[in-house]
Amino acid sequence: MKSATLSTVGAPCNLPGQIRALLPAAKGSLREVRKPCIRPNCRACKQGRKHLCFILQWNDGKRGRCAYVPLSLVADLRKAIANGRRIERLLSQAGAQMVTEVGKRRQEHCHEMARQ
Ligand SMILES: [Zn+2]
Repeated sequence: MKSATLSTVGAPCNLPGQIRALLPAAKGSLREVRKPCIRPNCRACKQGRKHLCFILQWNDGKRGRCAYVPLSLVADLRKAIANGRRIERLLSQAGAQMVTEVGKRRQEHCHEMARQ
């Protein structure tokens, strides 16, 4: 866990840097499933353990999609998905901050108007 990234959350001018630090990022869900194989006398399949494989599910904007994930990619993909969630959180905070900043400025403006 990078505490430097978390401690600077809330500084909109640093948003590109914060996002860059979280790349590569991805969105989707990684599912663990057990599948039978095609080998006729497979021990794992006979004992019901079958074979572990990973599926990535995501939405392309129109519909849900999925694809098998090679085992060599699972760890990196997990990390990228976690980074994607952090980036989404940063974007939510950035939006909220934009609104509060504008709200503050508007209040200041109203005070000035009242004084005149
Ligand atoms: Zn098998």
